[in-house]
Amino acid sequence: MRIDEIYKTKKQVLSFEIYPPKRDTTLTSIDETLQVLCGLKPDFISVTFGAGGSTTNSLTVNLAKKIKREYGIEPVVHLTCINYDHNEILAFTDELAEAGIENVLALRGDRNPDIEPKKEFFYASELVAFLKEQRGNLCIGGACYPEGHTEASDKVTDIHNLKKKVDAGADFLVSQLFFDNEMYYSFREKMRIADISRPVSAGIMPVINRAQIERMVSLCGASLPEKFRRILMKYENDREALFDAGMAYAVNQIVDLLANEAEGIHIYTMNNPAVAKRICDSIRHLI
Ligand code: FAD
Repeated sequence: MRIDEIYKTKKQVLSFEIYPPKRDTTLTSIDETLQVLCGLKPDFISVTFGAGGSTTNSLTVNLAKKIKREYGIEPVVHLTCINYDHNEILAFTDELAEAGIENVLALRGDRNPDIEPKKEFFYASELVAFLKEQRGNLCIGGACYPEGHTEASDKVTDIHNLKKKVDAGADFLVSQLFFDNEMYYSFREKMRIADISRPVSAGIMPVINRAQIERMVSLCGASLPEKFRRILMKYENDREALFDAGMAYAVNQIVDLLANEAEGIHIYTMNNPAVAKRICDSIRHLI
């Protein structure tokens, strides 16, 4: 089923993100994780994709196929473009079509100083336009950034660039992780002013250790609210307490987002079934 159809039929959509296991071509190591995640019945599961030079991208497709065929959950395949050319993208989408996969998240991908970009795609909006023209039956999602993308000179410019992506044909959006819901509400306001009217799933990263979160924050530029920083400091050396506190913080964010009519919640599961289960158990009657 197309993801844009899911947003039309369900008031609020729940989704998970996972990544293919490294070096496990048989995908057996992820079975236990999938059993739990798919048993929680998300509306879709998105599978990440290497930005280039990676051997794991066939694993992305195989994992998406497995999610669809063996577990009956709709997959979304991430597809990055700066390190691929037009023919490689077409070949990849042919593989998706053979597998009956109709949803992609069209991304630029992060620049890698060790890889020379192919210079056929510079921005995600170009990939969106190319897919719309060449593979018009695909449902295409795009990424968005409540606190602005790290390379953007300012948030207004970033919103203008998001508008280009939507005008090129993006059908739905998935947000970067954030820890301060006010940032998200302010971003949605800017979207409305810019007349961007696609459904957005809000990205939530449940925190289970301090090093993980500091790495993510330095990569994606999300700000850490003071109250959250204090929680991390208090419990950083107590694994179980930090798990409880991290889950409680994420659940609080989600409850507030749902009460404020967010169209979707996208949980960055980090392939951790205990995290997804704890969160879903806490919001069972809300979504
Ligand atoms: P774009 O939309 O192209 O934006 C990138 C920058 O260019 C922004 O600063 C934007 O303002 C600017 N820009 C856009 N269009 C124009 C224009 N026409 N003119 C001038 N400037 C412009 N990375 C992976 O490698 N694999 C993944 O699986 C993956 N999954 C992700 C999932 C989500 C939900 C998110 C939020 C990110 C994901 N990423 C992934 C990371 C992503 O690839 C990076 O954030 C990347 O730096 C930008 O990708 P984008 O598609 O948002 O790029």
